[in-house]
Formats: sequence, C-alpha cells, structure tokens
Amino acid sequence: MIKINSKLPNLGTTIFTVIGQLAKEHNAINLSQGFPNFSPDSKLLRLVNQAHQDDFNQYAPMQGILSLRETISEKTESLYGKSYHPETEITITAGATEAIFTSIAAFVRPKDEVIVLRPAYDCYEPAIELFGGMVVPIALEGPSFKVDWNGLKKAISPKTRMMIINTPHNPTGTIWSESDMLQLQEILKDTNIILLSDEVYEHITFDGEQHHSVSKFPDLASRSIVCSSFGKTFHVTGWKIGYCVAPKALMQEFHKVHQYNVFSVNHALQIALNEYLQSPEHYLELGSFYQKKRDYFLNAIQGSRFEAVPSAGTYFQLLDYGKITDEKDMDFAIRLIREHQLASIPISVFCGPDYNQRFLRFCFGKTEDVLDQAAEILQRI
Ligand code: PMP
Ligand code: GLN
Repeated sequence: MIKINSKLPNLGTTIFTVIGQLAKEHNAINLSQGFPNFSPDSKLLRLVNQAHQDDFNQYAPMQGILSLRETISEKTESLYGKSYHPETEITITAGATEAIFTSIAAFVRPKDEVIVLRPAYDCYEPAIELFGGMVVPIALEGPSFKVDWNGLKKAISPKTRMMIINTPHNPTGTIWSESDMLQLQEILKDTNIILLSDEVYEHITFDGEQHHSVSKFPDLASRSIVCSSFGKTFHVTGWKIGYCVAPKALMQEFHKVHQYNVFSVNHALQIALNEYLQSPEHYLELGSFYQKKRDYFLNAIQGSRFEAVPSAGTYFQLLDYGKITDEKDMDFAIRLIREHQLASIPISVFCGPDYNQRFLRFCFGKTEDVLDQAAEILQRI
C-alpha cells in the first residue's frame, strides 16, 4: 500500500456536498447550496448554441477572448470609474473559485500570513494552507457582522502578505459601505499587502444600496485582485466561468499560474457572454429581481420563531433560531433535514472552531413554490 502524507490532513468534504447529499437522501427542500432553481434567460442559451454552431469549439486565448475583456473593461469603468486595460489587466477564469485559488497560489509563500474575516467562504483557507500560508482570522460578530477595525490593525504584521474580503458577503448578506472601504484603504496604505476582493455578488444589493467595489478606491485598486462570477450574475452557476481584474504587475504574476492551471476557459461561453453583456440591463436589474425574492421569503416566514436580520445583498438570508433551541447549528441543520425535510447551511463551517452562534443560512434564489414550501416548514417549527 502506498503511504500518503496528506497536505491537508484536517480537511473533510465541503459542506455543500455533505448537506446536498443529505438533502437528496431525505428528499428535502433545498435552500442550502447557493444556486437558482430556475433557468437562465433563453436568449443567453441561444447565444451559446450559436457559438457552438459557429465553431468556437477550440481553445480560447490564455487570458480570455479580447472582445469579452474589452466589454468587461467598459463595464467596470462605467460602474466603478476605474479603467482596467483589456490586454493586460483582465483575465477570464474558470469561475471565481479559480481566480481566488490562482491568486493565492501566485502570491502566498510558506509562512506568509493571510488575513481572513470569518465567517469566510469555504474555498479561501484550504488554498492558503495548501501553499504553506498562515490564516490570521478576524471574527465578524453577529448579528451586525461589522469589521473590528482595531482588531484588523492589530492583526497586521510584517508577515502579512494578503487580506481577503468579500462584499456582498456570503454567508451573512452584509455589504461594505463606502466608509468601510475608506477605513480599509487607510489601514492598508503604506503596506505591502495584496487585497483579494471577492465581489461575486456585486450585482445583488438591495434597498437602494450600492455595491462599493475596491476598484472605486484608487489605493485599494492599486493593490487588489477583484473577482467576479458570471454564474451568480446570469443564473448559470454550473458553467463555472468568471473573471478577475487587477493592475498589470499583479496580473502578470497571476498569469504565471493561470496559464498552467487551466490555460484557458470555455471558448463558446465567452463568445455568448460577450454578446449578452452588450445589454447592461441583464445585470443592472439583478438586485431588484432578488430583492423581490428576499421580501417574498421574509414575508412568508413572518410570525415564525425564526428571526431574520434582512439581507442587504447576495441571495442568502441568515435566520436566528435562538428562540427555538440551543443546539449547535450543525446539529440543528441536520435535524431540520432529517425531521422536517428542509436543508440550510450551518454557518459555523465558515467560522472556525470557537464559533457558537445560532444562525442558519437559507438561499432564497428559488421559485415562489419552493419558497412557500420552505416557509411552511419554518412556520411549523
Ligand atoms: N465566492 C463566493 C463568496 C461565493 O459564494 C462563490 C459561490 N459560488 C464563489 C466565490 C465561487 O464562484 P464560482 O462559482 O464562480 O466559482
Ligand atoms: N457559493 C455557493 C454557496 O455558497 C456554493 C458553491 C459550492 O458549492 N462550492 O452556496
């Protein structure tokens, strides 16, 4: 028998697979993993068919097709006022996940410290550990999940190589304000810290609030890789296609890994997405689309014993179940699936071992019939 010395000995299977399988076994309503249960726009599907017929079936350029990068450059400039050069500062990636992994691989060396705000989306920390980096966690305390700026200042050391932020935030649904970004800019000023900004829910903000991309803040933008996902924006999470933007010097290093990690990304999808992006309403209307779903869900669970702090962005809603039980969130989430056929995500999996709050995450990116069925169960508990 060959002997395996695991590089990640303490890591199990991602919560999305674990809960997804359990939900299937129990035939549960699935509000756990974040994906829409409805189809994307048929126009986008037709564009993909057309791109296949037009024979865009061979490798795309390593950085992505230039026309799509040009479109992204215009989009980013018009939304955030920052111009990224399409030839040197934009790359199409295999989902935001690849952009995040590649960034960490390109910049984090053994013993480098990486500041992570917990709860943190689950793909950050394994990648940091894989490359020998040290995770320096900072807790975001519920129910406000605000950043502890003093804690952040104290966490910075000469070994800090990178910090990872995520707004709108998965799993809490909070968003960073302009003043949060200015605080961060001030704290990172004169440091050598690279900022990895996960903005996959950039188009999903509610109640008239704007998304504040790091791209809008010159000193932050000069040190940042900003990640986006077409999966979230166009209801096509299964396509695993996204992009990142960064200043040329950072992007050059990013390419050194990207070119041997995936080389390039699905060609036909890039052709179709470029065409589809020519109509900005396809992404500009996403916030109000999901706000209706959030409000529908919140309205349907009103009067239940679950308490919501309304989500400000993403398609996730945290519900506090402290009035029902003091069970740990993992135990309660599993019981909800087994006994009530409703699947959610326990947020302790994004928080590390000391976490002890009573929240579950529900994805409301679903059709009303599914939200109704979920609400009916929540009302009963
Ligand atoms: N970051 C966050 C915060 C996410 O929720 C997701 C979810 N899928 C990703 C990154 C990964 O995006 P993609 O599916 O485009 O790889
Ligand atoms: N981003 C999705 C979520 O948070 C899941 C993606 C995945 O399954 N890895 O639910």
